[in-house]
Amino acid sequence: MKCSSDEKFSPGKLNRYGNIELSPSSGVLNYGQGLFEGLKAYRKEDGRLLLFRPEENARRMQMGAERMCMPSPSTYQFLHAVKQTVLANRRWVPPPGKGSLYVRPLLIGTGPVLGLAPAPDYTFLIYASPVGNYFKERLPLNLFVDDDYHRAFPGGTGGVKTISNYAPVLKAQTQAKKKGFSDVIFLDSVNKRFLEEASSCNIFIIKDNVISTPSTQGTILAGITRKSIIEIALKYDYQVEERPVPVEELLNADEVFCTGTAVVVAPVGSVTYHGKRVEYRSGVQTVSHRLYSALTSIQMGLVEDAMGWTVEI
Ligand code: PMP
Repeated sequence: MKCSSDEKFSPGKLNRYGNIELSPSSGVLNYGQGLFEGLKAYRKEDGRLLLFRPEENARRMQMGAERMCMPSPSTYQFLHAVKQTVLANRRWVPPPGKGSLYVRPLLIGTGPVLGLAPAPDYTFLIYASPVGNYFKERLPLNLFVDDDYHRAFPGGTGGVKTISNYAPVLKAQTQAKKKGFSDVIFLDSVNKRFLEEASSCNIFIIKDNVISTPSTQGTILAGITRKSIIEIALKYDYQVEERPVPVEELLNADEVFCTGTAVVVAPVGSVTYHGKRVEYRSGVQTVSHRLYSALTSIQMGLVEDAMGWTVEI
């Protein structure tokens, strides 16, 4: 789907996966004007396909577009395009329990800009790929707290899903992986003390059955999995706190876990901070595993969706 900066998106069409043409002076290539989303389609036992809270992805893209001076597809257009993409690729949706079809909507500034300004034209496109577990055979995660690098700062774009948020992460993540860690935990850039998130997922800690997660104050992504886990935990009568979480709380937490569309709910086995390695409970007896089971059984259509979160296509 394409549109100019002062227009609405017109209906798009399905194309075979392939390269797209882009002006060398396009807004996305020169000034990072790009946003993306990620959601999954699961196949139920009866063959029907399920999306998980796709309207939340549409809304998040619209909020991000506002921050990035871009037009955005309406919620209807977003949902319609996602459903068409999944239906066209339905044979690629893995069988129940074997993974999911990952759907990647992209909104990019395609029009030419030489001087710094929003691009004159935009393209909204979606591609999809079957996926298994994100951190294959590497659970529980071993995370490294990195206070040398930051991915976001107050007033910046850390709270929206722009492509340019991922560039500052690459070096920290690559270095951590070389040292054998699964991923990095970033701290806030002002105090260098409060937990923000990992490279592509939100973080939770559990101490004495109280579940805490950093509040979203513009520098971390408001994850849809994060929001869903908070709602499930409250339904199960856990105490949930969204607040600034000092890094020292990692040192005596009982459990730590990460959430995201790709990682779902991933237990953290250890965190290393300033050379000190702390280990946590993981396995089927943990609170995080209970939350994981509750979430995935809704996503995969194994239980009745009392929350009204899934959309059948
Ligand atoms: N933080 C970042 C930086 C991410 O890229 C993601 C993945 N979208 C998340 C958190 C988790 O968000 P969600 O649960 O909506 O996938």
